[in-house]
Amino acid sequence: MLENIIIKQKKLLLASLQQLIQINSVEAEGKKGMPFGQGVDDALRFAIELGESFGFSTVYNEGYYGYIEMGEGKELVGMLGHLDVVPVEKPELWTFPPFGGEIANNRVYGRGSLDDKGPIIAALYAMHAVKEAAIPLKKRVRLILGTNEETGWKCIKKYLEEEEIPQYGFVPDSDFPLIHGEKGLLQIKLQIDEGASFSMVGGGALNSVPDSCSYTGNQIEKLVEALKATDYSYTQQGDTITLQGKTAHTAKCWEGINAITQAALLLNQENISAPIIDFIAKEVGEDIYAKNMFGNYYDDISGKLTFNVAKVKVDNQQQQVYVDLRIPVTKEKEEVLSILEKVVSSYGLQMEVLSFLSPLYVSEDHFLIKALRNVYEEVTGLNSTPLTTGGATYARSLQNFVAFGPLFPGEIKMAHKTNEYIDIDSLMKCTLIYAKAISRLGQ
Ligand SMILES: [Zn+2]
Repeated sequence: MLENIIIKQKKLLLASLQQLIQINSVEAEGKKGMPFGQGVDDALRFAIELGESFGFSTVYNEGYYGYIEMGEGKELVGMLGHLDVVPVEKPELWTFPPFGGEIANNRVYGRGSLDDKGPIIAALYAMHAVKEAAIPLKKRVRLILGTNEETGWKCIKKYLEEEEIPQYGFVPDSDFPLIHGEKGLLQIKLQIDEGASFSMVGGGALNSVPDSCSYTGNQIEKLVEALKATDYSYTQQGDTITLQGKTAHTAKCWEGINAITQAALLLNQENISAPIIDFIAKEVGEDIYAKNMFGNYYDDISGKLTFNVAKVKVDNQQQQVYVDLRIPVTKEKEEVLSILEKVVSSYGLQMEVLSFLSPLYVSEDHFLIKALRNVYEEVTGLNSTPLTTGGATYARSLQNFVAFGPLFPGEIKMAHKTNEYIDIDSLMKCTLIYAKAISRLGQ
């Protein structure tokens, strides 16, 4: 029943997605009533009007968010997606215009096709199919439309302040089968107001493994000699040596090579001392799990704590290091901080918490997980064992929410990339899964 309705809607669904991609909704300068710019607001209004045309009730709130709702009852089930997209860095590299929404190779191409306009259109046509099939819902189902996922989550923050919070739900902005655990994300700065006899600078963005770290000072000859006995890559220019590592996302820091920890180990080995360097070399070294400090710190659900030394700055005034930690879902931030505090204070370092995103975790026994796994298996026949990640999706902004699709196992992650696309068969399958999920969760 649902399947037939969705197949009949295919042309309209694709046309809606094409139109939505054609609205350039990269964040732009805010205007009155359009906090994230005209394009984002146009995309939000487009989605709401489509919901209205299906006969659903809708709400638009000052350009921050909107929602589309169906069903009846006291309880509220949610789906959360976003209409803003990341900028197009190099349009000349695109085979199809980034805001064209062109169809080729059984794919819809364009910025946002996968992240997250395709999934929003899938969720909206899924609601439509449930309505057409006259499946009775005992709960209300609400598609929440965010507008600022890529650059600050201001939309969902405002939603949480002003609106009813769904009891549970899913976010169509990641992977199938589903992600039910995301590690806590803690970023800290360690500092000592004490100069060093050399300077060092390395790394940048805290969510990356640093691929470069430079030492400048008067111990070059000694260091170059020591480097010959290692397999480290480096370049030398005058009295500066630059170590070269390999970058990776912090959530997968085991895939990178950390140039800062290599530099610290090298200096430490040659007895060039400074509190920050001593701390990095002795307590972390090449161990991304920092077992020296934390022991075997893990849980069965999401794995080990990771410790990415992401950025360093040492000069004749000050020494600073920035760290990005990913904490297992069942562990407490306070415990991690107290373990750290003891160690860093013994080096005379001061610790400052820069940011913390609490973990996402919904137990496998929860009705939501059982229902979504069931629906996914029914449609695909594939294994539905839930996943966990060190990354951060939009799902962690709401309690009892999980990430659910749109990408199927083995598909290439094209979000944020050149020639972003969504496969049309996958999009249709995704729509069916969401329609069944709505009917199941709405019971
Ligand atoms: Zn997204």
